[in-house]
Amino acid sequence: QPGATARSIEAEDAVLARNYAPLPVVLADGDGVWVRDVEGNRYLDLLSAYSALNFGHRHPALIAAAQDQLGRLTLTSRAFRNDKLGAFAAALARLCGKDMVLPMNTGAEAVESGIKVARAWAYRVKKVPTEQAEIIVAHGNFHGRTTTIVGFSDDPSAHLDFGPFTPGFVSVRFGDAAALEAAITPRTAAVLIEPIQGEAGVIIPPAGYLRAVRELCDRHGVLFIADEIQSGLGRTGATFACDREDVVPDVYLLGKALGGGIVPVSAVVADERVLGVLRPGEHGSTFGGNPLAAAVGLAVVELLATGEYQERAAVLGERLAGLLAPLVGDGVTETRVAGLWAGIDVDEAVGSGRQVAERLATRGVLVKETHDHTIRIMPPLVIEAEQLDWAVEQLREVLAGR
Ligand code: PLP
Repeated sequence: QPGATARSIEAEDAVLARNYAPLPVVLADGDGVWVRDVEGNRYLDLLSAYSALNFGHRHPALIAAAQDQLGRLTLTSRAFRNDKLGAFAAALARLCGKDMVLPMNTGAEAVESGIKVARAWAYRVKKVPTEQAEIIVAHGNFHGRTTTIVGFSDDPSAHLDFGPFTPGFVSVRFGDAAALEAAITPRTAAVLIEPIQGEAGVIIPPAGYLRAVRELCDRHGVLFIADEIQSGLGRTGATFACDREDVVPDVYLLGKALGGGIVPVSAVVADERVLGVLRPGEHGSTFGGNPLAAAVGLAVVELLATGEYQERAAVLGERLAGLLAPLVGDGVTETRVAGLWAGIDVDEAVGSGRQVAERLATRGVLVKETHDHTIRIMPPLVIEAEQLDWAVEQLREVLAGR
C-alpha cells in the first residue's frame, strides 16, 4: 500500500505524546528475526525490542502457550490463586538457583519492587535505623522511567524537570570497586547495578568487577541486586551476565524477554531470607502473576532451560565480535561485544548514530541509536550466521558511505 507509511505516521503524530522519536518504519507483521512494514518491505530486526524478543517474533512454543491460555483463563488478580503461577514461579526460581519469586509486569516495576524489598530487608533484618537505608547505584545507570528510578539517573534527559526525587541513593563510578567500597556505610542496604550497562551503550565493566562487588557485599552485609532485565535470559551467551564471572547476586531483577515478546512479565527473584521480608498487603500488582503471563513466562523458562539459546548467543557472539573488529578505524571508533549484544561507537565523521540507523533501515536492517554516536546490535538469539553476516555487511557499507 503506497502511502500507508506516511498515513500511519501522521495518525500517530496527531495524538501521541512525543516521548519517543521512532524511525519512520511502520511495522505490520513479524516472524523470527524478520519484520515487515505496511508497504510490504522486509527488515532484519537487530533491536529485538531492546532484548525483549530474545526468541524472535512469534516463537511457535511461546505463541502456543499464549493461545492455549487465552482459551482458558487470562486474569484473576492475586486476590485468588490461579493454576499457572506456581509452575512458572517454581521453574523461574530453579533457573535462577533461588527459592522465591515476586512476579510483576514491567522492568521498572521489578526495579521499584527490588528497592522496596532491599529497604524492608535493611530495617527488618540488618537493623538499619528507620528511614536511613541507602542504596548504591552506578553512574550511567538505566533502570527505567518511574520517578524514583529517574531520580538516581545521571542522564539529564531522564531526570530534568521531573523532580523532586526519592532520597536514599548514592551513585559511584561503574566498574570501580574501590569507589564502591568507599561509599558503603552501616546504612547501606544494597548495591543495585546492571552487570553490563545496556542503555549506556553496552558498557562492560573490567574483568573481576562483579566478583569484587560480590565480595564487598558479603564483607559488609549488603545485598547485591543485579538488574538483568536487559542483560539476562541468554543475551550475553549465558543465562545471566553475572554468570560470565561466576557471580551469584542476592537478587535478580528480570523482565523484557521473560514475557516472550507477548506480554509484559517481570520478576524479583531471591532467596527467602531476602524476599521473605514482604508481608501480605505490603506490595502487589493487579496484573502481576496473571495466568497468561505465567503461561508465557513458563514457556520462556522452558526454552532457556535447554541451554540452546545461551549457546547460540555465545557462538554467534564470537562471530559478531569477529565481524565488528575490522570496522574499528573504518567508521567506528570502538566496539564492545558480550554475546549477541554489541555497542558500536560511530566515528563522528561518518554521522550520528541516528543517521546510521536511518541509512540501515533503508537497507532493511533495524537498529536503534543510544546517545549521539552509539548504535546497538542485539538480534533475536534465533538469528542465523548468514543473516548476521549480511547485516554487518550492510553496516560496513553504510559506514563506508555507500
Ligand atoms: N532495567 C534495565 C537494565 C533496562 O534496560 C530497562 C529497559 O530498557 C529497564 C530496567 C526498564 O524496563 P521497562 O521499560 O520494562 O520498564
